[in-house]
Amino acid sequence: MKIQQAKCPKCELTLCMESYDELLYCPTCRAIHTYNPPTIDQISYEIAGFPEDSPKENRIYVPFWRILSEFHITSGDVDGGFFSKMGKELEDGGRNGSIYIYMPASQIDKDAFRYWTVNLTINNPSYEIMKDFDEVKRIPTIISQEDAIELTDFVVMILEAENPGILQHLEYSLTVNEAKMIYLPFITGSSGLHLVV
Ligand SMILES: [Zn+2]
Repeated sequence: MKIQQAKCPKCELTLCMESYDELLYCPTCRAIHTYNPPTIDQISYEIAGFPEDSPKENRIYVPFWRILSEFHITSGDVDGGFFSKMGKELEDGGRNGSIYIYMPASQIDKDAFRYWTVNLTINNPSYEIMKDFDEVKRIPTIISQEDAIELTDFVVMILEAENPGILQHLEYSLTVNEAKMIYLPFITGSSGLHLVV
């Protein structure tokens, strides 16, 4: 396995990466930078804690982009479906509002991408925020923050398709206000990865 070396742009500590990751985490100053020269940006992130009663073995962190999106339904006739489901969180009679869209940021197959996107966007996970990874390994991020923002419209289509309503006509605009990296706690098992929040 090829080991790559990079310097933390904030504290200049030399970091080793065993596998390619879009994000460079520094265990000393706890900054995460995008690793895509020449653009090197510090990004905001959260590490979700493992619940106390979760197994101590086979823990792993999986990266997700959490995209704060603002909807403005400019005209439409929607009965049921994703927008209605989110309706309780929308202000102004369901025509405007903001939601957190979750999307996997790691290498993942199409069905798993769909599964986690739909489930975590409809039921946003709640967790305690930790200050570091506590030596738990993390799966590398391969979807950059930029790509994630570009994928938002596509993800909204997935969400609407998963929850089909009677959709006669819909026009909306979507504004991305923030894309934050969220590391969610999983347990690896013989049947795959299990979220433990
Ligand atoms: Zn550093």
